[in-house]
Amino acid sequence: MQRIEHVYINGEFVTPHGQEWFDLHNPSTEEVIGQVRLGDEHDARRAIAAASAAFRTWSCTTRDERIAALKRMHKAVAAREDELMDAIVMEYGAPSERGRWMATYPADVIAQAIDALEAFVFEEQAGSARVILTPMGVAGLITPWNSNAGFICNKLATALAAGCTAVVKPSEMSAMQTRIVTEALHEAGLPAGVFNIVNGRGDVVGEEIARHPDIAKISFTGSSAVGQHLVTAGAATMKRVTLELGGKSPTVVLDDADFAGIMPLVLQAGFMNSGQACIAGTRILVPRRRLAEFERIAKDAVSHVKSGDPRDADTAIGPMVSARQWERVQHYIRIGVEEGARLLAGGEGRPDGLRAGWFVKPTIFTDATNQMRIAREEIFGPVLTVIPYDDEADAIAIANDTRYGLSAVVLGQDLERCERVARRIDAGRVLINTLAHEPRAPFGGFKHSGLGREMGRWGMSAYLEPKTVLMAQG
Ligand code: NAD
Repeated sequence: MQRIEHVYINGEFVTPHGQEWFDLHNPSTEEVIGQVRLGDEHDARRAIAAASAAFRTWSCTTRDERIAALKRMHKAVAAREDELMDAIVMEYGAPSERGRWMATYPADVIAQAIDALEAFVFEEQAGSARVILTPMGVAGLITPWNSNAGFICNKLATALAAGCTAVVKPSEMSAMQTRIVTEALHEAGLPAGVFNIVNGRGDVVGEEIARHPDIAKISFTGSSAVGQHLVTAGAATMKRVTLELGGKSPTVVLDDADFAGIMPLVLQAGFMNSGQACIAGTRILVPRRRLAEFERIAKDAVSHVKSGDPRDADTAIGPMVSARQWERVQHYIRIGVEEGARLLAGGEGRPDGLRAGWFVKPTIFTDATNQMRIAREEIFGPVLTVIPYDDEADAIAIANDTRYGLSAVVLGQDLERCERVARRIDAGRVLINTLAHEPRAPFGGFKHSGLGREMGRWGMSAYLEPKTVLMAQG
């Protein structure tokens, strides 16, 4: 049983003013495996004050000084990979392959921020003016539970690279990952106050960050509802806001696709991170005239997808993160049945043979319409919706008929056609016949999937204000 008692403020692990203890669960067993003491508004204000004081000197550091600090962070976080892996499997339930990726990603994104900083152009000439990109101030960084360590490191490394200081409000449900990352970052030996990490509830610590006048910028990853609220709350103090939100991403299967060949990609796109991924391809658009063939191959393929103990090497889908999340997914499965979609695989309840743990059967609905709630709302579990389409134009129209626009996958043999379709899909990222990730490219969403972009120079620019300097000639 872990007891996580401290928050990190001004370069020290301190006992928070907040008194509340929050239970941490192992989602594979439902057992309580730890407790975290949550900070409150007072702790958030102390952290913001420390970050404000540190901004005065950190914002004046040179590129080389920041690169040196980020390299120390990278080394310290990379050294904790195995410990992170254990925490990710225990408190989140990621299957081993996904868990390993999530344990290496925090160091990888710091390396990406170093690359971006090395190449970044902070000053340029615009006509007679000098344009200087200037760090905004203190950044409030708020992360979700579905890749907490990765989001902390990505947001923090980018903010620091830009010359901002930060207060991080990690997901309260991921305190074990947060503890490991915080200890590693402490060892990196950055000046006190440059970053501060305060466990706490969203409606307490998160709200204080959202309204505090000394927070200049918020970078948030999480649900669309909270993201919208942060824009409204931040407006009173004119905060700059970057949002990475939800999705209902289409996987567009073109009519020349080799269904047997693409099926592993289709399922992986939909079931990635146990279905708890913002970029998951949960709407599968299939040519109507080949629907029966697609269903037959999908049904066979999904029967080999194992949902169960994340420590087993052959498990593809781990448990949902919480009882609440499990209930939510079950609720959507019921809705799909009530709406008249046909269940091709899975359904309500736990997979056969599992009595405990927040496990869900890999579920596929077919013959659905894009108007059904299971096609419009983010379920955040391993539940996929197959929607037939008539022709290419219809496929593009259905792909874009959503309030989201985070990601999309296009699958087909004619690559020119795939690219033509990709160009017409309204999404921040379109993958053609691959699920590859490119951390140097911008990441973020159209429409309700977000505001602004993270990663690379696009991510760094979001922490900088252009300042135009004009000087009298002669
Ligand atoms: P959530 O919005 O409930 O919580 C995210 C974070 O916001 C948590 O740290 C939470 O404590 C905090 N929060 C909650 N209320 C707040 C408030 N009033 N003020 C400030 N902070 C507050 O989301 P979640 O359930 O943790 O994560 C799942 C959601 O995140 C899904 O919708 C998913 O699509 C989205 N997500 C998006 C991306 C992306 O990059 N686009 C990545 C991962 C997850």
